[in-house]
Amino acid sequence: MSDATHAELNVYESAEARFEIAAAKLNLEEGVYRYLKYPSREVTVYIPALLDSGHLEVFIGYRVLHSDVRGPGKGGIRFDPNVTLDEVRALAAWMTWKCAVVNIPFGGAKGGVICDPSKLSKSELERITRRYTAELSEWFGPERDIPAPDIGTNEQTMAWVMDTYSMHVRQATTAVVTGKPLDLGGSQGRKEATGRGLMICCNKATAKFGMQRENCRVIIQGFGNVGSEAALLIHKAGYKIVGVADIHGGLYNEKGFDIAKLHKWVYEQKKPLPDFPDGGAKMPAREILFQPCDILLPAATENQITSQNAHRLQCRILCEGANGPTTSQADAIIDKSGIFVVPDILANAGGVTVSYFEWVQDRQGFFWRESEVNERLQDVMEQSFDEVIRYAETHGVNNRIAAYILAIDRVARALKLRGFYA
Ligand code: NAD
Repeated sequence: MSDATHAELNVYESAEARFEIAAAKLNLEEGVYRYLKYPSREVTVYIPALLDSGHLEVFIGYRVLHSDVRGPGKGGIRFDPNVTLDEVRALAAWMTWKCAVVNIPFGGAKGGVICDPSKLSKSELERITRRYTAELSEWFGPERDIPAPDIGTNEQTMAWVMDTYSMHVRQATTAVVTGKPLDLGGSQGRKEATGRGLMICCNKATAKFGMQRENCRVIIQGFGNVGSEAALLIHKAGYKIVGVADIHGGLYNEKGFDIAKLHKWVYEQKKPLPDFPDGGAKMPAREILFQPCDILLPAATENQITSQNAHRLQCRILCEGANGPTTSQADAIIDKSGIFVVPDILANAGGVTVSYFEWVQDRQGFFWRESEVNERLQDVMEQSFDEVIRYAETHGVNNRIAAYILAIDRVARALKLRGFYA
Protein backbone atom coordinates (compact mmCIF):
# COMPACT_ATOMS: atom_id res chain seq x y z
CA MET A 1 0.00 0.00 0.00
CA SER A 2 1.07 3.54 -0.63
CA ASP A 3 1.73 5.95 2.21
CA ALA A 4 0.07 8.81 0.36
CA THR A 5 -2.21 10.84 2.62
CA HIS A 6 -5.94 10.43 2.71
CA ALA A 7 -6.35 13.84 1.03
CA GLU A 8 -4.02 12.89 -1.81
CA LEU A 9 -6.06 9.76 -2.47
CA ASN A 10 -9.36 11.64 -2.67
CA VAL A 11 -9.92 11.52 -6.44
CA TYR A 12 -12.32 14.43 -6.31
CA GLU A 13 -9.54 16.58 -4.88
CA SER A 14 -7.15 15.32 -7.57
CA ALA A 15 -9.65 16.21 -10.30
CA GLU A 16 -10.26 19.63 -8.70
CA ALA A 17 -6.54 20.41 -8.44
CA ARG A 18 -6.05 19.99 -12.19
CA PHE A 19 -9.25 21.95 -12.91
CA GLU A 20 -8.00 24.82 -10.75
CA ILE A 21 -4.65 25.03 -12.58
CA ALA A 22 -6.27 24.91 -16.03
CA ALA A 23 -9.01 27.39 -15.08
CA ALA A 24 -6.35 29.84 -13.84
CA LYS A 25 -4.35 29.47 -17.08
CA LEU A 26 -7.54 30.18 -19.03
CA ASN A 27 -8.40 33.21 -16.88
CA LEU A 28 -11.87 31.77 -16.47
CA GLU A 29 -14.35 34.35 -15.13
CA GLU A 30 -15.38 33.69 -11.52
CA GLY A 31 -19.01 32.82 -12.38
CA VAL A 32 -18.11 30.41 -15.17
CA TYR A 33 -15.45 28.86 -12.96
CA ARG A 34 -18.00 28.18 -10.24
CA TYR A 35 -20.56 26.91 -12.75
CA LEU A 36 -18.11 24.33 -14.13
CA LYS A 37 -16.54 23.41 -10.81
CA TYR A 38 -19.70 21.96 -9.24
CA PRO A 39 -21.91 19.16 -10.57
CA SER A 40 -25.37 19.97 -11.93
CA ARG A 41 -27.09 17.21 -10.02
CA GLU A 42 -26.31 14.45 -7.54
CA VAL A 43 -28.80 11.71 -6.77
CA THR A 44 -28.47 9.08 -4.03
CA VAL A 45 -30.75 6.07 -4.24
CA TYR A 46 -31.38 3.32 -1.71
CA ILE A 47 -31.88 0.08 -3.58
CA PRO A 48 -33.83 -2.68 -1.87
CA ALA A 49 -32.88 -6.02 -3.39
CA LEU A 50 -33.94 -9.53 -2.48
CA LEU A 51 -30.90 -11.79 -2.20
CA ASP A 52 -31.12 -15.42 -3.27
CA SER A 53 -31.19 -16.41 0.39
CA GLY A 54 -34.50 -14.56 0.80
CA HIS A 55 -32.79 -11.83 2.84
CA LEU A 56 -33.73 -8.24 1.89
CA GLU A 57 -30.65 -6.04 1.53
CA VAL A 58 -30.51 -2.31 0.82
CA PHE A 59 -27.67 -1.09 -1.41
CA ILE A 60 -26.63 2.53 -1.87
CA GLY A 61 -26.29 3.91 -5.39
CA TYR A 62 -25.37 7.27 -6.89
CA ARG A 63 -25.74 9.08 -10.18
CA VAL A 64 -23.98 12.40 -10.65
CA LEU A 65 -24.55 14.62 -13.65
CA HIS A 66 -21.58 16.96 -13.75
CA SER A 67 -22.55 18.86 -16.88
CA ASP A 68 -25.01 18.78 -19.76
CA VAL A 69 -23.77 22.01 -21.30
CA ARG A 70 -22.56 20.35 -24.54
CA GLY A 71 -25.16 17.58 -24.67
CA PRO A 72 -26.74 14.84 -22.56
CA GLY A 73 -24.78 13.39 -19.66
CA LYS A 74 -22.61 10.41 -20.50
CA GLY A 75 -20.76 8.06 -18.21
CA GLY A 76 -20.45 4.56 -16.85
CA ILE A 77 -21.96 2.77 -13.90
CA ARG A 78 -19.49 1.23 -11.45
CA PHE A 79 -20.35 -1.67 -9.13
CA ASP A 80 -17.67 -1.80 -6.48
CA PRO A 81 -17.55 -2.08 -2.67
CA ASN A 82 -15.35 1.03 -2.47
CA VAL A 83 -17.60 3.39 -4.44
CA THR A 84 -18.03 6.79 -2.73
CA LEU A 85 -19.96 9.88 -3.73
CA ASP A 86 -16.68 11.82 -4.06
CA GLU A 87 -15.34 9.18 -6.45
CA VAL A 88 -18.49 9.30 -8.58
CA ARG A 89 -18.31 13.13 -8.58
CA ALA A 90 -14.73 13.04 -9.82
CA LEU A 91 -15.50 10.46 -12.47
CA ALA A 92 -18.51 12.51 -13.66
CA ALA A 93 -16.36 15.65 -14.02
CA TRP A 94 -13.70 13.68 -15.88
CA MET A 95 -16.40 12.52 -18.31
CA THR A 96 -17.30 16.15 -19.05
CA TRP A 97 -13.67 16.98 -19.81
CA LYS A 98 -13.08 13.74 -21.72
CA CYS A 99 -16.07 14.24 -24.04
CA ALA A 100 -14.91 17.81 -24.65
CA VAL A 101 -11.30 16.75 -25.38
CA VAL A 102 -12.49 14.43 -28.16
CA ASN A 103 -15.17 16.96 -29.12
CA ILE A 104 -18.22 14.71 -28.96
CA PRO A 105 -21.58 16.31 -28.10
CA PHE A 106 -22.01 14.92 -24.60
CA GLY A 107 -21.71 16.24 -21.09
CA GLY A 108 -20.37 14.20 -18.20
CA ALA A 109 -22.04 11.87 -15.72
CA LYS A 110 -21.21 8.79 -13.69
CA GLY A 111 -22.97 6.28 -11.50
CA GLY A 112 -22.02 3.76 -8.89
CA VAL A 113 -23.49 1.18 -6.56
CA ILE A 114 -21.72 0.11 -3.38
CA CYS A 115 -21.69 -3.65 -3.85
CA ASP A 116 -19.26 -6.46 -4.55
CA PRO A 117 -20.25 -8.13 -7.83
CA SER A 118 -17.89 -11.04 -7.15
CA LYS A 119 -20.06 -11.98 -4.16
CA LEU A 120 -23.44 -11.61 -5.88
CA SER A 121 -25.21 -14.07 -8.16
CA LYS A 122 -26.31 -13.10 -11.66
CA SER A 123 -29.94 -12.82 -10.56
CA GLU A 124 -29.00 -10.66 -7.55
CA LEU A 125 -27.02 -8.36 -9.85
CA GLU A 126 -29.98 -8.19 -12.21
CA ARG A 127 -32.34 -7.17 -9.39
CA ILE A 128 -29.93 -4.48 -8.14
CA THR A 129 -29.43 -3.13 -11.67
CA ARG A 130 -33.14 -3.03 -12.44
CA ARG A 131 -34.11 -1.28 -9.22
CA TYR A 132 -31.22 1.21 -9.56
CA THR A 133 -32.43 1.97 -13.10
CA ALA A 134 -36.05 2.24 -12.03
CA GLU A 135 -35.12 4.72 -9.27
CA LEU A 136 -33.26 6.83 -11.83
CA SER A 137 -35.61 6.37 -14.78
CA GLU A 138 -36.71 10.00 -14.76
CA TRP A 139 -33.09 11.16 -15.04
CA PHE A 140 -31.87 8.63 -17.62
CA GLY A 141 -32.76 8.91 -21.30
CA PRO A 142 -31.13 9.18 -24.74
CA GLU A 143 -31.46 12.97 -24.55
CA ARG A 144 -30.77 13.25 -20.81
CA ASP A 145 -28.18 10.92 -19.37
CA ILE A 146 -26.77 7.81 -21.02
CA PRO A 147 -24.99 5.18 -18.89
CA ALA A 148 -22.31 2.72 -20.04
CA PRO A 149 -20.26 -0.06 -18.41
CA ASP A 150 -17.40 0.61 -16.00
CA ILE A 151 -15.66 -1.44 -13.31
CA GLY A 152 -17.88 -4.34 -12.24
CA THR A 153 -20.52 -3.87 -14.96
CA ASN A 154 -20.67 -5.19 -18.52
CA GLU A 155 -22.81 -5.67 -21.64
CA GLN A 156 -25.34 -7.77 -19.73
CA THR A 157 -25.76 -5.02 -17.11
CA MET A 158 -26.43 -2.54 -19.92
CA ALA A 159 -29.02 -4.88 -21.47
CA TRP A 160 -30.88 -4.93 -18.10
CA VAL A 161 -30.70 -1.13 -17.86
CA MET A 162 -32.05 -0.81 -21.40
CA ASP A 163 -34.90 -3.25 -20.73
CA THR A 164 -35.90 -1.68 -17.40
CA TYR A 165 -35.85 1.85 -18.83
CA SER A 166 -37.81 0.68 -21.89
CA MET A 167 -40.48 -0.89 -19.66
CA HIS A 168 -40.85 2.40 -17.78
CA VAL A 169 -41.20 4.57 -20.89
CA ARG A 170 -43.21 1.84 -22.65
CA GLN A 171 -41.12 1.73 -25.79
CA ALA A 172 -37.91 -0.05 -26.74
CA THR A 173 -35.21 2.59 -26.29
CA THR A 174 -31.82 1.20 -27.25
CA ALA A 175 -30.06 4.59 -27.19
CA VAL A 176 -30.52 4.98 -23.41
CA VAL A 177 -27.30 3.06 -22.77
CA THR A 178 -24.13 2.22 -24.67
CA GLY A 179 -21.82 -0.73 -24.39
CA LYS A 180 -24.81 -3.00 -25.09
CA PRO A 181 -24.62 -6.46 -26.68
CA LEU A 182 -24.47 -6.36 -30.50
CA ASP A 183 -27.86 -8.11 -30.69
CA LEU A 184 -29.44 -5.23 -28.82
CA GLY A 185 -28.21 -2.20 -30.75
CA GLY A 186 -24.57 -2.35 -29.64
CA SER A 187 -21.83 -1.12 -31.93
CA GLN A 188 -19.16 -3.11 -33.68
CA GLY A 189 -15.82 -2.30 -32.09
CA ARG A 190 -17.21 -0.98 -28.78
CA LYS A 191 -15.73 -3.78 -26.65
CA GLU A 192 -12.21 -3.06 -27.94
CA ALA A 193 -12.67 0.71 -28.27
CA THR A 194 -10.92 1.91 -25.11
CA GLY A 195 -8.01 -0.45 -25.77
CA ARG A 196 -7.89 0.61 -29.42
CA GLY A 197 -7.81 4.27 -28.41
CA LEU A 198 -4.89 3.50 -26.09
CA MET A 199 -3.05 1.73 -28.90
CA ILE A 200 -3.59 4.73 -31.18
CA CYS A 201 -2.14 7.01 -28.47
CA CYS A 202 0.87 4.68 -28.10
CA ASN A 203 1.38 4.79 -31.88
CA LYS A 204 1.23 8.60 -31.90
CA ALA A 205 3.57 8.97 -28.92
CA THR A 206 6.16 6.51 -30.22
CA ALA A 207 6.05 8.11 -33.68
CA LYS A 208 6.65 11.51 -32.04
CA PHE A 209 9.85 10.22 -30.47
CA GLY A 210 10.93 8.08 -33.45
CA MET A 211 10.68 4.90 -31.34
CA GLN A 212 10.38 1.53 -33.12
CA ARG A 213 7.43 -0.54 -31.91
CA GLU A 214 9.33 -3.81 -31.92
CA ASN A 215 11.88 -2.29 -29.53
CA CYS A 216 9.23 -0.88 -27.22
CA ARG A 217 8.65 -2.71 -23.96
CA VAL A 218 5.14 -2.21 -22.60
CA ILE A 219 3.75 -2.87 -19.11
CA ILE A 220 0.00 -3.05 -18.53
CA GLN A 221 -1.56 -2.97 -15.07
CA GLY A 222 -5.15 -4.32 -15.12
CA PHE A 223 -6.34 -7.12 -17.35
CA GLY A 224 -10.06 -6.38 -17.47
CA ASN A 225 -12.11 -4.83 -20.24
CA VAL A 226 -9.60 -2.04 -20.91
CA GLY A 227 -6.28 -3.72 -20.06
CA SER A 228 -6.87 -7.05 -21.80
CA GLU A 229 -8.21 -5.50 -25.02
CA ALA A 230 -5.37 -2.98 -25.05
CA ALA A 231 -2.89 -5.80 -24.49
CA LEU A 232 -4.25 -7.83 -27.41
CA LEU A 233 -4.21 -4.87 -29.81
CA ILE A 234 -0.87 -3.44 -28.69
CA HIS A 235 0.76 -6.86 -28.93
CA LYS A 236 -0.73 -7.39 -32.40
CA ALA A 237 0.59 -3.96 -33.44
CA GLY A 238 4.13 -5.22 -32.81
CA TYR A 239 5.02 -3.97 -29.33
CA LYS A 240 6.59 -6.27 -26.76
CA ILE A 241 4.51 -6.65 -23.60
CA VAL A 242 6.92 -7.39 -20.78
CA GLY A 243 4.68 -6.82 -17.75
CA VAL A 244 1.06 -7.56 -16.86
CA ALA A 245 -0.92 -7.47 -13.62
CA ASP A 246 -4.42 -7.82 -12.30
CA ILE A 247 -5.81 -7.72 -8.79
CA HIS A 248 -4.21 -11.11 -8.01
CA GLY A 249 -0.66 -9.98 -8.80
CA GLY A 250 1.84 -9.11 -11.51
CA LEU A 251 4.26 -10.85 -13.86
CA TYR A 252 7.36 -9.40 -15.49
CA ASN A 253 9.22 -11.13 -18.30
CA GLU A 254 11.81 -9.24 -20.37
CA LYS A 255 11.33 -11.68 -23.24
CA GLY A 256 7.69 -10.62 -23.59
CA PHE A 257 4.38 -12.46 -23.23
CA ASP A 258 2.25 -14.29 -25.75
CA ILE A 259 -0.81 -12.17 -25.02
CA ALA A 260 -3.33 -14.28 -26.97
CA LYS A 261 -2.26 -17.26 -24.84
CA LEU A 262 -2.47 -15.23 -21.63
CA HIS A 263 -5.93 -13.98 -22.64
CA LYS A 264 -7.12 -17.59 -23.08
CA TRP A 265 -5.51 -18.53 -19.77
CA VAL A 266 -7.48 -15.85 -17.90
CA TYR A 267 -10.73 -15.73 -19.87
CA GLU A 268 -11.26 -19.27 -21.21
CA GLN A 269 -9.38 -21.39 -18.75
CA LYS A 270 -10.41 -19.02 -15.92
CA LYS A 271 -7.01 -19.35 -14.25
CA PRO A 272 -5.35 -16.69 -12.05
CA LEU A 273 -3.16 -14.37 -14.13
CA PRO A 274 -0.06 -14.71 -11.89
CA ASP A 275 -0.09 -18.50 -12.40
CA PHE A 276 0.43 -18.15 -16.16
CA PRO A 277 3.13 -20.69 -17.13
CA ASP A 278 6.42 -19.21 -18.45
CA GLY A 279 5.19 -15.97 -16.92
CA GLY A 280 8.51 -14.64 -15.63
CA ALA A 281 8.94 -13.02 -12.23
CA LYS A 282 5.91 -12.79 -9.95
CA MET A 283 5.34 -9.62 -7.95
CA PRO A 284 2.57 -7.62 -6.24
CA ALA A 285 0.23 -5.88 -8.69
CA ARG A 286 1.47 -2.40 -7.73
CA GLU A 287 5.16 -3.32 -8.20
CA ILE A 288 4.65 -3.96 -11.91
CA LEU A 289 4.39 -0.19 -12.35
CA PHE A 290 8.00 0.32 -11.32
CA GLN A 291 9.69 -2.19 -13.61
CA PRO A 292 11.77 -0.94 -16.57
CA CYS A 293 9.77 -0.32 -19.75
CA ASP A 294 9.24 2.18 -22.55
CA ILE A 295 5.47 2.50 -22.19
CA LEU A 296 3.56 2.11 -18.94
CA LEU A 297 -0.16 1.62 -19.23
CA PRO A 298 -2.07 1.67 -15.92
CA ALA A 299 -5.52 0.24 -16.75
CA ALA A 300 -6.79 -0.96 -13.38
CA THR A 301 -8.00 1.61 -10.94
CA GLU A 302 -7.28 5.08 -9.56
CA ASN A 303 -4.49 6.34 -7.25
CA GLN A 304 -1.84 3.84 -8.32
CA ILE A 305 0.88 6.44 -8.92
CA THR A 306 1.26 8.84 -5.99
CA SER A 307 3.69 11.39 -4.56
CA GLN A 308 5.21 8.50 -2.59
CA ASN A 309 6.10 6.26 -5.53
CA ALA A 310 6.19 8.41 -8.71
CA HIS A 311 10.00 8.72 -8.43
CA ARG A 312 10.21 4.93 -8.97
CA LEU A 313 8.66 4.96 -12.45
CA GLN A 314 11.06 3.70 -15.12
CA CYS A 315 9.07 4.42 -18.28
CA ARG A 316 9.50 6.90 -21.13
CA ILE A 317 5.77 7.21 -21.87
CA LEU A 318 2.89 6.98 -19.39
CA CYS A 319 -0.37 6.27 -21.21
CA GLU A 320 -3.29 6.26 -18.77
CA GLY A 321 -5.96 3.64 -19.46
CA ALA A 322 -7.63 3.89 -16.06
CA ASN A 323 -9.39 7.02 -14.86
CA GLY A 324 -7.26 8.90 -12.35
CA PRO A 325 -4.40 6.38 -11.98
CA THR A 326 -2.07 9.27 -11.07
CA THR A 327 -2.74 11.62 -8.14
CA SER A 328 -2.39 15.36 -8.70
CA GLN A 329 0.50 15.43 -6.21
CA ALA A 330 2.44 12.97 -8.38
CA ASP A 331 2.16 15.25 -11.44
CA ALA A 332 5.09 17.51 -10.55
CA ILE A 333 7.40 14.55 -9.88
CA ILE A 334 6.49 13.02 -13.23
CA ASP A 335 6.99 16.36 -14.99
CA LYS A 336 10.48 16.65 -13.51
CA SER A 337 11.40 13.15 -14.63
CA GLY A 338 10.62 14.05 -18.25
CA ILE A 339 8.12 11.21 -18.73
CA PHE A 340 5.75 11.92 -21.63
CA VAL A 341 2.20 11.62 -20.25
CA VAL A 342 -0.85 10.81 -22.34
CA PRO A 343 -3.45 11.82 -19.71
CA ASP A 344 -6.51 9.69 -18.94
CA ILE A 345 -9.05 12.16 -20.33
CA LEU A 346 -7.36 11.77 -23.72
CA ALA A 347 -5.84 8.28 -23.60
CA ASN A 348 -8.93 6.32 -22.54
CA ALA A 349 -11.43 8.39 -24.53
CA GLY A 350 -11.75 5.70 -27.23
CA GLY A 351 -14.50 4.03 -25.19
CA VAL A 352 -16.76 7.06 -24.95
CA THR A 353 -16.04 7.95 -28.59
CA VAL A 354 -17.38 4.61 -29.81
CA SER A 355 -20.20 4.92 -27.26
CA TYR A 356 -21.09 8.11 -29.09
CA PHE A 357 -20.98 6.18 -32.40
CA GLU A 358 -23.25 3.54 -30.84
CA TRP A 359 -25.75 6.20 -29.74
CA VAL A 360 -25.69 7.75 -33.23
CA GLN A 361 -26.28 4.34 -34.85
CA ASP A 362 -29.12 3.50 -32.44
CA ARG A 363 -30.83 6.81 -33.16
CA GLN A 364 -30.37 6.40 -36.91
CA GLY A 365 -31.38 2.74 -36.80
CA PHE A 366 -28.52 2.19 -39.23
CA PHE A 367 -25.40 0.27 -38.26
CA TRP A 368 -21.83 0.67 -39.46
CA ARG A 369 -19.20 -1.89 -40.41
CA GLU A 370 -16.44 -2.47 -37.85
CA SER A 371 -13.87 -0.97 -40.23
CA GLU A 372 -15.96 2.24 -40.41
CA VAL A 373 -16.15 2.45 -36.62
CA ASN A 374 -12.41 1.89 -36.25
CA GLU A 375 -11.50 4.42 -38.95
CA ARG A 376 -13.67 7.11 -37.39
CA LEU A 377 -12.23 6.32 -33.96
CA GLN A 378 -8.71 6.63 -35.34
CA ASP A 379 -9.53 10.05 -36.83
CA VAL A 380 -10.96 11.32 -33.55
CA MET A 381 -8.11 9.99 -31.40
CA GLU A 382 -5.33 11.22 -33.70
CA GLN A 383 -6.84 14.66 -34.04
CA SER A 384 -7.42 14.97 -30.29
CA PHE A 385 -3.89 13.79 -29.52
CA ASP A 386 -2.47 16.43 -31.88
CA GLU A 387 -4.68 19.15 -30.37
CA VAL A 388 -3.60 18.35 -26.82
CA ILE A 389 0.09 18.40 -27.78
CA ARG A 390 -0.42 21.70 -29.61
CA TYR A 391 -2.13 23.19 -26.53
CA ALA A 392 0.73 21.98 -24.33
CA GLU A 393 3.22 23.71 -26.58
CA THR A 394 1.28 26.95 -27.02
CA HIS A 395 0.34 27.31 -23.33
CA GLY A 396 3.66 26.05 -21.98
CA VAL A 397 2.00 23.42 -19.77
CA ASN A 398 2.20 19.65 -19.42
CA ASN A 399 -0.04 17.40 -21.52
CA ARG A 400 -2.50 16.80 -18.71
CA ILE A 401 -3.14 20.48 -18.04
CA ALA A 402 -3.26 21.06 -21.81
CA ALA A 403 -6.06 18.50 -22.12
CA TYR A 404 -7.97 20.22 -19.29
CA ILE A 405 -7.46 23.65 -20.88
CA LEU A 406 -8.72 22.38 -24.24
CA ALA A 407 -11.75 20.76 -22.59
CA ILE A 408 -12.66 23.56 -20.19
CA ASP A 409 -12.34 26.12 -22.97
CA ARG A 410 -14.76 24.13 -25.16
CA VAL A 411 -17.33 23.73 -22.38
CA ALA A 412 -16.99 27.38 -21.28
CA ARG A 413 -17.54 28.60 -24.85
CA ALA A 414 -20.69 26.46 -25.21
CA LEU A 415 -21.92 27.70 -21.83
CA LYS A 416 -21.48 31.35 -22.78
CA LEU A 417 -23.28 30.79 -26.10
CA ARG A 418 -26.20 29.20 -24.31
CA GLY A 419 -26.23 32.05 -21.78
CA PHE A 420 -27.29 31.85 -18.16
CA TYR A 421 -30.84 30.98 -17.17
CA ALA A 422 -30.28 32.29 -13.71
P1 NAD B 1 -12.63 -4.15 -15.26
O1 NAD B 1 -13.39 -4.36 -13.98
O2 NAD B 1 -13.07 -4.85 -16.50
O3 NAD B 1 -11.07 -4.50 -15.05
C1 NAD B 1 -10.30 -4.00 -14.01
C2 NAD B 1 -8.98 -4.79 -13.99
O4 NAD B 1 -8.11 -4.21 -13.04
C3 NAD B 1 -9.13 -6.24 -13.59
O5 NAD B 1 -8.21 -7.03 -14.31
C4 NAD B 1 -8.74 -6.24 -12.09
O6 NAD B 1 -8.25 -7.50 -11.66
C5 NAD B 1 -7.65 -5.20 -12.13
N1 NAD B 1 -7.43 -4.55 -10.85
C6 NAD B 1 -8.33 -4.01 -10.00
N2 NAD B 1 -7.71 -3.51 -8.93
C7 NAD B 1 -6.39 -3.71 -9.13
C8 NAD B 1 -5.22 -3.41 -8.40
N3 NAD B 1 -5.30 -2.80 -7.23
N4 NAD B 1 -4.03 -3.75 -8.91
C9 NAD B 1 -3.94 -4.37 -10.10
N5 NAD B 1 -4.99 -4.69 -10.85
C10 NAD B 1 -6.21 -4.36 -10.35
O7 NAD B 1 -12.64 -2.56 -15.47
P2 NAD B 1 -12.34 -1.78 -16.83
O8 NAD B 1 -13.62 -1.49 -17.50
O9 NAD B 1 -11.23 -2.44 -17.57
O10 NAD B 1 -11.82 -0.38 -16.25
C11 NAD B 1 -10.48 -0.19 -15.81
C12 NAD B 1 -10.22 1.30 -15.68
O11 NAD B 1 -10.43 1.93 -16.94
C13 NAD B 1 -11.13 2.04 -14.70
O12 NAD B 1 -10.41 3.10 -14.13
C14 NAD B 1 -12.23 2.59 -15.59
O13 NAD B 1 -12.89 3.70 -15.02
C15 NAD B 1 -11.39 2.97 -16.81
N6 NAD B 1 -12.11 3.11 -18.07
C16 NAD B 1 -12.89 2.10 -18.53
C17 NAD B 1 -13.50 2.25 -19.79
C18 NAD B 1 -14.30 1.14 -20.41
O14 NAD B 1 -14.66 1.27 -21.58
N7 NAD B 1 -14.57 0.04 -19.72
C19 NAD B 1 -13.34 3.43 -20.51
C20 NAD B 1 -12.52 4.43 -20.00
C21 NAD B 1 -11.90 4.25 -18.78
